[in-house]
Amino acid sequence: MRRIGWNSIGVVVAVVLFFALAIQGGRAAPGWDATLAKGKKPPAAKPREDGKLSIIALGAHPDDSELRAGGVAALWAAQGHHVKLVSTTNGDVGHWCQAGGVLAQRRLAEVQKCDKMLGAATEVLDIHDGELMPTLENRQIFTRLIRQWKADIVLGPRPNDYHPDHRYTGILMQDSGFMVTVPFFCSDVPYLAKNPVFLYYSDGFQRPNPFRPDIVVAIDEVVEKKVDAIAQLESQVLEGCCMGDERLVPKTEEEYVKRMGQVREGLRRRFAGTADQHRAKLIELYGEEKGKKVRYAEAFELCEYGSRPSIEELKKLFPTFGN
Ligand SMILES: [Zn+2]
Repeated sequence: MRRIGWNSIGVVVAVVLFFALAIQGGRAAPGWDATLAKGKKPPAAKPREDGKLSIIALGAHPDDSELRAGGVAALWAAQGHHVKLVSTTNGDVGHWCQAGGVLAQRRLAEVQKCDKMLGAATEVLDIHDGELMPTLENRQIFTRLIRQWKADIVLGPRPNDYHPDHRYTGILMQDSGFMVTVPFFCSDVPYLAKNPVFLYYSDGFQRPNPFRPDIVVAIDEVVEKKVDAIAQLESQVLEGCCMGDERLVPKTEEEYVKRMGQVREGLRRRFAGTADQHRAKLIELYGEEKGKKVRYAEAFELCEYGSRPSIEELKKLFPTFGN
């Protein structure tokens, strides 16, 4: 029998070591996932092909977004941008002697007429007035609405407000601020590749912090159009919504004409008040000469949860800044 020499043993050990190291080298590094490496992100929503902006304005009732942003909506619409005004409740308790389906239908017809005059599309969610809650279901509804409109800009109320529907519309808008970009949240509607710019309407509430305008837009050139459009919301502006009473209802045609004149004048005063209140910002944005001359305005504050454009970028998104 032949004895195995030390040399042969050395060769065998070397061969075994070589193959062991080769196998080790071909194995996955810890943490690396071959399946994930083949993964593909689902396609995002396709952008609109006409290069125009898409704006969606969220209000709690069929008058809120019109009052706060009807002027800028008309300006955008006149430039061919896509504007949609949404009421997140149907407004069915917003009157002192009417309610339910009859009032909801009446307010839908009013706001459709109003938005058409502004050049905007209308959507009224069938949620009872005074009953909007910041639920998961509503977060999904808001997310889908913003995505379906392929929004570049989303407007809504701040969550500091006297009315719970306004507050929760603000909360739900904020809750959608990031979720619209998450591919597998509400994956039945393609997510947005770019987080829109979210802005709040102006208001007068002081606590916990007052409204701070980032952009104030002159609406002088469309103020009469805005007044004409808002005047269509008679259940609210003429009859006094849920705060009114029978004394406000004109009893003759003459009274009606007189009362409508007062309503229109009140609206002009209100929009002029916004310009006066934010005069310093108007001067900062438009320059001394033009900023002083602006008579009517709408003001907006950037929400921290969306895209954060610079002031110069914001001015390019909003009309009347020379773009
Ligand atoms: Zn409201």
